[in-house]
This record gives sequence, structure tokens and C-alpha cells, in this order.
Amino acid sequence: MNLSDLDHRITGCRACPRLVAWREEVARTKRAAFADWTYWGRPVPGFGPADASLLIIGLAPAAHGANRTGRMFTGDRSGDVLYEALYDIGLASQPTAVSADDGLELYGLRITSPVRCAPPANKPTPEERDTCRSWLVEELTLLRPTLRAVVVLGAFGWQAALPAFAAAGWQVPRPRPAFGHGTQVSLGGLDLFGCFHVSQRNTFTGKLTPAMLRGVLRTAAGAAGL
Ligand code: SF4
Repeated sequence: MNLSDLDHRITGCRACPRLVAWREEVARTKRAAFADWTYWGRPVPGFGPADASLLIIGLAPAAHGANRTGRMFTGDRSGDVLYEALYDIGLASQPTAVSADDGLELYGLRITSPVRCAPPANKPTPEERDTCRSWLVEELTLLRPTLRAVVVLGAFGWQAALPAFAAAGWQVPRPRPAFGHGTQVSLGGLDLFGCFHVSQRNTFTGKLTPAMLRGVLRTAAGAAGL
């Protein structure tokens, strides 16, 4: 099993009936601005090289972003903020991400999420989070030989990911560390960083500023040897 095999298997998953129905309904009904798109409408696999030393973990695909384009954080406002920052610090080949064939490359970095299907109101249930975790465990296991640092965007991703790190063989402290922006935790050979999510709710209100985002990403990139 390699990462591209895993990515392919993920795209066929139908384990969560509510999310399967939602992702496909959104793909059928579309947003007017994207009426000429053929929506992806399936689970979204991770994006980035198989030998990444840095991983970013988000929450779930956006209904009209990654659920439309089929690539993590591609085609929505959250991705606009994230990819601009990644480009600024040398982890991405371009500052924009509009479609899966736009030529964007990531350098030493992979981006994934603990829930792979777009959820209604961006809110997966705890059951859906737990059902999807096995995909993240498999992805972490395959990345383990090269992975040195991880940035988790938001408390949901943090809570979803910590058990996955434990299942993939890293040492997760007990009690489990709480999420916070700028929090740094060592998992034994892997540095974990917390960062507020790049959602519009956070970036429009100034809860997460461009400087704050770049600060965490730069520190994590340094820990990953990038
Ligand atoms: Fe499968 Fe995850 Fe999508 Fe559920 S959220 S259907 S487990 S890919």
C-alpha cells in the first residue's frame, strides 16, 4: 500500500450516509456561480508529496470548495488565505489554488483533513469524525518515515487527530494536551503545533491575522527541516 493507493481508496468511501447524501446533493444542485462546473462530490484525499516532512490538518472539505474541485482547500476563501501564506514562506509554488489542475505544487508539505466529505454547516458529527479517523491513521502511518512536524488548524482537527497519532504509533501525552493557537507538543520525534483555523470567521474578525498564521507555519516548517 502506498499513498496514491490510499488516496484512490478514500475517494470511493461511502461509510457516512448523511455526508454521502450531502456531498452528492451539493454536487447536483451547485452554487449559481459554479453552474458550469462538474463538482467532485466525493471524499477528498490528501494533497502533497508522499515524502512530506510537514503536514497540515484542517477540518473537512468546504461544500463549494474542495467538494467542487476535489483538492484540499482549493476554490474557497479559507484556501485563499492558507495558500497565500504557504507561498510567502516557500512551501507552495503559487499563491492561489483554484482547481485541481492549476499547476500548484507543495514543497515538503502535505495537506489533509480528519473528515474527508463536506458536512452540512461545516459540522461533522462525533460519529462521522470517528468513522473517518481510520483514513487519517493510514495516511499518518504511510507518512511516518519522513514526517517531522504537523500544524493542526482548529480545535476540531486537534481533537480528531490526537487519537489518530496515537493509533499510528506516536506518543501522545496523557492527559491529552488542549488545543490553543501557538501550542506546541512533542509526540516523540514529531512536533505538533496548534493554529486557529483559516476560516472566514477567524480571518475576517482578526482572530487569526496573516502574521499569526505565518508565524506558526514558519516555526513548524523549521521543525520539519524545511
Ligand atoms: Fe468515508 Fe470519511 Fe466520507 Fe465518512 S467522511 S464517507 S468515512 S470518507
